[in-house]
Amino acid sequence: MEAIIQIKNLCKTYSNGTEALKGISLEIQSGQFFALLGPNGAGKSTLVKIITTLISKDSGEFYIQGSNTETNSLKIQKIIGVASQENEIDPAETVENLMVFQGRLFGMSKKEAIERAGWLIEAFGLTNVKSQKAGILSGGNKRRLHCALALVHNPKILFLDEPTVGMDPVARSEFWKIIKGLNIKGVTVFLTTQYLEEVDKHASAMSLISEGQILYSGTISNFKTMVNGGNNSSLEESYLQYLEIISKQ
Ligand code: ADP
Ligand code: MG
Repeated sequence: MEAIIQIKNLCKTYSNGTEALKGISLEIQSGQFFALLGPNGAGKSTLVKIITTLISKDSGEFYIQGSNTETNSLKIQKIIGVASQENEIDPAETVENLMVFQGRLFGMSKKEAIERAGWLIEAFGLTNVKSQKAGILSGGNKRRLHCALALVHNPKILFLDEPTVGMDPVARSEFWKIIKGLNIKGVTVFLTTQYLEEVDKHASAMSLISEGQILYSGTISNFKTMVNGGNNSSLEESYLQYLEIISKQ
């Protein structure tokens, strides 16, 4: 496997003085299902925003498929799909239009964009609401739309920042079926979530971040073994136990 994402010593301090990232180094392999875990405020969204070129870093380096994002941001934007934590969707447009516009934005022909939008609308269970304006969708449907939008241009790497917040159990299960299907086809998944059972079920590698620093990077099974000898505990149990151990240090 080759590293598709390489991050070296990345630092970010916001203008109000908050040190969000204090030297993050990470490698994610091509085709991996990777989860970035950590408490609220740990720096997960900051890291996702930097590597997806939405905000700038202060120092450090990162490469996506060997390309430096500063000199090749257009190339990189074509191979990544991003569902960020906040839903930034034009509330006045319909679901269908937003999906088609997104395809057009990425250079698809009208026919291609309509076909792709139709497939994703169906796959994400949005058919009943496809003519509704995005602004009046339920929270769960907004998240589904947001994730579907991230997939219109067939990205090779998918960044999902707390994607399933607000989805009902059926939507969540369908959502994971789609994402697993893409991952099996070779799409690299970079996930952040607070639902650790989702990570336990789907991801193979993880990093744990706290206060802007990486505390663990490796496989999920190694993490469990490290914390409690791998005695069949869930990731959630191991995670809670680990945070308790380090809070006492
Ligand atoms: P997470 O996604 O892990 O919950 P974030 O990356 O959103 O964490 O936030 C990391 C830290 O940076 C937090 O202390 C948060 O309050 C702060 N932060 C996030 N965004 C901003 C911003 N735009 N301006 C100032 N501070 C911010
Ligand atoms: Mg976040």
